[in-house]
Amino acid sequence: MKKKLVKRSAFGIFSLEKYPFPVFVCDKPGQVILVNRSLLGELGVAQNELTGRSVPDLLENPARWESIRNLTGQEEEDPGRAEKIIFDVGSSVIYELDCIVQFHTAPENDFFVFWVKDIHKRQFGSQSSDKKILPVADPLISNETETGYRLIFNVSPLPMWIHRLEDFQILDVNEEAILFYGYSREEFLGMTAKELRPPSEIPKLMAAHLNLDRNLKRFRFGIYTHRKKNGELVRMEVFGSRISYQGEECMIISCWDVTAKESQLLAIQEYARKLKFSTELSKIGYWQSDLRSGQLHWSDEVYAIWNRKKEDFPVSFESFFETVFPEDRQKFLEVRDQALADRQDFNFVHRIIMPDASLKWVLEKGRLIFGEGGEPMLFEGAVQDIDAYKTLELQISNILQSISDAFYALDEQWNFTYFNKEAENLLKKREEEVLGKSIWEVFPQAIGTTLEENYRRVSETGISVTFEYLFPNEGGWYEINAYPSTGGVSAYFKNVDERKKTAEELAQAFEERNSILESIGDGFIAIDRNWKVTYWNKMAERLLGKNRAGVLGHDLREIYEKLESTNFYLYLYRVMEEGKALDMEEYFREIGLWLEISVYPSHKGLAVYFKDVTERNRALEQIKLANERFEKITEVTHDAIWDWDIKNESIYYGKGFETIFGYDLTCVPPSLDFWSDRIHPEDIDRINASLQSALDDVNAEIWFDEYRFKLAKAEGYAFVIDRGMILRDKSRQAYRMVGSMADITYRINYDNSLRENNLKLAQYTRELERSNWELEQIAFVTSHDLQEPLRMISGFLSQLERKYSHRLDDKAMQYIRLAIGGSQRMKQIISDLMEYSKASKSLEEKSDVRLSDILKEYVLLREKNISDKKVRTILINDLVFLSFRSSITQVFHNLLDNAIKYSKSGEAPVIELAAWEKEGFYYFSVKDNGIGIDPLYFGKIFEMFQRLHAGGKYSGTGIGLAITKKLIENMGGEIWLKSQEEVGTTFYFKLPQ
Ligand code: ADP
Repeated sequence: MKKKLVKRSAFGIFSLEKYPFPVFVCDKPGQVILVNRSLLGELGVAQNELTGRSVPDLLENPARWESIRNLTGQEEEDPGRAEKIIFDVGSSVIYELDCIVQFHTAPENDFFVFWVKDIHKRQFGSQSSDKKILPVADPLISNETETGYRLIFNVSPLPMWIHRLEDFQILDVNEEAILFYGYSREEFLGMTAKELRPPSEIPKLMAAHLNLDRNLKRFRFGIYTHRKKNGELVRMEVFGSRISYQGEECMIISCWDVTAKESQLLAIQEYARKLKFSTELSKIGYWQSDLRSGQLHWSDEVYAIWNRKKEDFPVSFESFFETVFPEDRQKFLEVRDQALADRQDFNFVHRIIMPDASLKWVLEKGRLIFGEGGEPMLFEGAVQDIDAYKTLELQISNILQSISDAFYALDEQWNFTYFNKEAENLLKKREEEVLGKSIWEVFPQAIGTTLEENYRRVSETGISVTFEYLFPNEGGWYEINAYPSTGGVSAYFKNVDERKKTAEELAQAFEERNSILESIGDGFIAIDRNWKVTYWNKMAERLLGKNRAGVLGHDLREIYEKLESTNFYLYLYRVMEEGKALDMEEYFREIGLWLEISVYPSHKGLAVYFKDVTERNRALEQIKLANERFEKITEVTHDAIWDWDIKNESIYYGKGFETIFGYDLTCVPPSLDFWSDRIHPEDIDRINASLQSALDDVNAEIWFDEYRFKLAKAEGYAFVIDRGMILRDKSRQAYRMVGSMADITYRINYDNSLRENNLKLAQYTRELERSNWELEQIAFVTSHDLQEPLRMISGFLSQLERKYSHRLDDKAMQYIRLAIGGSQRMKQIISDLMEYSKASKSLEEKSDVRLSDILKEYVLLREKNISDKKVRTILINDLVFLSFRSSITQVFHNLLDNAIKYSKSGEAPVIELAAWEKEGFYYFSVKDNGIGIDPLYFGKIFEMFQRLHAGGKYSGTGIGLAITKKLIENMGGEIWLKSQEEVGTTFYFKLPQ
């Protein structure tokens, strides 16, 4: 509610002018720029007396201006700032204004509004001067509907109350009434409107209420005598407005104290009575002038009026004219001559000079008497002493001129006889213009209106009436009191536009309040300080499922038994205690609804507004969940998520832009440019075109493309594939796109290197194949082509040895034997080489092999050598494994051969075989106690023709271990060793299972 009020108060300054409660406005530098009518009225000053003044100078504490100036209006729930303004209106009067200051922004200007809460009038030299004259409800705390009623009610300078039509029970009363009548609020609320009157007035009151016109809303009940608490009787003019209050038919009453006015009226009536009496008593003289002889005759009464003696005063026109007051002489002649010329009667009031030089008012009435031939013969007349009358009249006139109400008097011919200053002001006519003229002539527009009707009734019945009258053309409402006066009508009147407006505003505020309370979409309930429900609108019936009739007047805690254990109750209680409004949102299990609730304190209790926000909360919850989900996805995915609101030209970039591309999202502007600016210049045109064509194609729902996207830190670009889903509205216009960018740089790199490797591999394979082929050729040549000549050499050498041994000496024989040994060694090398070349070309199938079998075969084969050298073989553990039988046999034979061959002289060789399985491999070891190998040569020994022992100590070709390694590697295995010189060597190898 408060928010709504603040929003509404972005009114523009000028609507404040019409705001019915005191308020003023200053601009940013602190100059007063507007004071509304209401405040001007309260202070009794003109607009220009306050505008232009500097607020810092008006502040009770000028230092506070700094903090007011810093108000920004940004504070969400800004309740305004309380400040005191001191305003000196000259003489000895100072007004203290309690204000609430708020900052507002208008299109052209920023300004501060000072809502005046209270006005205190301070008079110097007076003890009890601090009288609160303007109790105003805080317009910021009250809700807007209550405000209208409550503020006008409390701000009204008239005593007001609300009573129930049925029994006159007073239900509410304003501050002014409390001040005026002297009863306290509590006393008032325990009284009926009847008790404000002396018993004699009650029948009149009852009658007025009985005869209420059903079709009217507003009533003017007339003047009643009221009695104050202290017994003083006052005359009050009473107005009423029919309203519905707390669901009951009531009357809101405002009263106007007319006691003083009535006493003035009585005085005037008294004068008028005297006047009439004195006129009746006064004598009338007679005079006659013979127009032919010029003789003038006076009756005794004339002499008496003139206070002249017959004997001393020779009467003639000249002597008479001498007695006429010089100022009136000219006029007298004019009137007389006019009468003679027109042959008409004349009437003339003038003053005469008495023997003692005093003046006396007389009224002359003259008429002409004509002769037979129609010629004027006699001029006769009556003269009346009207001095007493005139004196009274002047007295009355003086009173009338001095009183504040407008007044005029009409004689029996409806001619104006009085027209006072205020009448001049209000009716915009000057006294001279209207005196002696008929009201119907001066104000023809009044003819046929209620004014004429009322005036005629007064003149006929002699009974006064009071009525409200809207002056045609001139506009404006007048309250007219018409009284009968000597033959005519006199009327008091005053402009009641302001009062009318206040009354209308009040009635309207009530109506608005009720109709607003009923029509607002919000539920509204009001409770008093005793928790009794005083209001329960239709929406409350609907949301809370309780009927108005069933709850009005009941204690809220009885209506909801569990109320006191709820949060809601705590809030209500707090507002009641602290007098500060509260907002809350709460789930009500009983009715299954989420309600947004605003609780406002009022002087009578609490006003509670509530709204069903269940749907909103559900939707919010869902949005929150969806958002969370979305956020989570963007966090865990390896893609950079984006969400482009095409209509509003904003874009959301997910965490991926941070984690993948290294951008600090807090610095990323939520615009499309961030993205497009970072696309590789060579790609941008292509991407723009492809995106645009996807957006333009009304059937396209997916867009994807690949391009290079700039990285934040590293120089260079990431290869990305970007996929987006296009969301379209009913007219197939794209309004949103959600998508993700995946970094495919590694894939592209991998693809590239794979391609490269494959190329290399193919080349390598080709080279390998060629070299293998060459090797095979060599092996072939070696095995066949070399063996032939070798066989020839060794054959002829054998022949030479056998056939020519007797002719050759010993030396020649030794050479021949050496040559035979060499050729045999060469033969061995060749067969080993063939063996090696064969090792790479195994076409054998795998089969189960038992280690112990291999050892047995070996021992059988090398039986002689083993027994000669006393070799001991130990099988640490046996193993059956799947392998290529011949290859594995050859491996073991080679290793066992070496273990025996490189044994220490003088120590029998001990060889241990072991085998085990581990992690998908078979492991084998062949351990000897031979001469050992220097670790320096661990690599060398597996190369072809590499031997550590030259000469004849250990025979061999240096190919055995090369073949062994090749065989093991061909089977997918590996060979290595541990050795220590003079201790022994262990060869290990493993084969895949
Ligand atoms: P050879 O025909 O010389 O035995 P090998 O390739 O079988 O050729 O061995 C290469 C060299 O490795 C041998 O000359 C020898 O010096 C060394 N060697 C091989 N096995 C052993 C062993 N069990 N103990 C010590 N030295 C060994």
